[in-house]
Amino acid sequence: MLEILKQSSNPEICKPLVEAVIEKAKEFQQKFGRRPAFMEVCGSHTMSLARTGVKQCLKDEVNLISGPGCPVCVTDQRSIDAMIALAEGENRIICTFGDMMRVPGSNKTLLDSKIAGKDIRVLYSPVEAIKIAEENPDKEVIFLGVGFETTIPILTLMVGEAEKRSIGNFSIWMTTKLVEPVLRYLLDAGEVNLDGFLLPGHVSIVLGENSYKYLVDEYHISGVITGFETAELLFGIYKSIELALTGQAAIINNHPSIVTKTGNQVIHQWMDKYLTECDEAWRGIGVIPNSGLDLKPEYSQFNAKKRFTVEVGEPRKTKCRCGEVIRGLISPNECSLFGKACHPMNPVGPCMVSAEGSCAAYYQYMRES
Ligand code: SF4
Repeated sequence: MLEILKQSSNPEICKPLVEAVIEKAKEFQQKFGRRPAFMEVCGSHTMSLARTGVKQCLKDEVNLISGPGCPVCVTDQRSIDAMIALAEGENRIICTFGDMMRVPGSNKTLLDSKIAGKDIRVLYSPVEAIKIAEENPDKEVIFLGVGFETTIPILTLMVGEAEKRSIGNFSIWMTTKLVEPVLRYLLDAGEVNLDGFLLPGHVSIVLGENSYKYLVDEYHISGVITGFETAELLFGIYKSIELALTGQAAIINNHPSIVTKTGNQVIHQWMDKYLTECDEAWRGIGVIPNSGLDLKPEYSQFNAKKRFTVEVGEPRKTKCRCGEVIRGLISPNECSLFGKACHPMNPVGPCMVSAEGSCAAYYQYMRES
């Protein structure tokens, strides 16, 4: 309790909220003989729950399970291998987000290739890649495009900008992911028992509240759209328990002022213009049909997968259990490598690399020393 109040900017709100959540969770336990279990879908939620101390504070009363919503963690090993292979070619500049540099491929990371002399650059804004392409007309600039519905619109902006400026030496290696197919995958697999989902506020701004109707209509499971501040997290958990107690499924929108019923239509139109659904490989899960977005054929000149031929083998097997962490089957500390062979200075898997990864969150805030 002390920790959570220290982290919070609103301790006067959070203290009674913690007490209310614990009371509700006890009510649930009395009724069902177990803790209520909720999955936070998004990596930002995972990190916020650990950083604010909410997860630790409620660990005896509420089972908060991390889900597959960290884009770095779910990027398939073969995409990293492909980028490393592309970097080997003549006159190439590979651009990516910072976290991707240390994600292990089959044999090495992009950082290893950079140290070996390949031109691999970390961008703070993806649109910088367009500028780099303009400044280096004799080189191919390839951007590794990862992310969920919050990042995908930015990738389409890059394509729009390259198109507008008639830039012919820029392309994106798209390996984007969508929330709905992976939630359906988890629910269809039935590997983890859940009483509901904590749904991410920022993704929901794009998707809209109605986009989660399938959870209720087809799976009879609830979701609460929740922000990232301590009080918002606590309130989201409280509402989730309240719903679970009734036995009814519903979607609750805790951000009605910014998350509309239908989401951001301008972004939807922009995405419809450039992108089409495609099968995507998820690390630790495999290929989920129609779980990503790729560029439409009319934008093939900006599609690195169409412009370049890259041979990569099957992903190398390791002892990393990120696949089980991502699916909510184990906690990071159940992996035998956690905190020993695998730690932030020597990450064995992406969940320890990413700023939103479950293993990194556990290591930073929940490790028992
Ligand atoms: Fe993978 Fe390391 Fe997490 Fe284990 S602790 S699952 S090796 S990232």
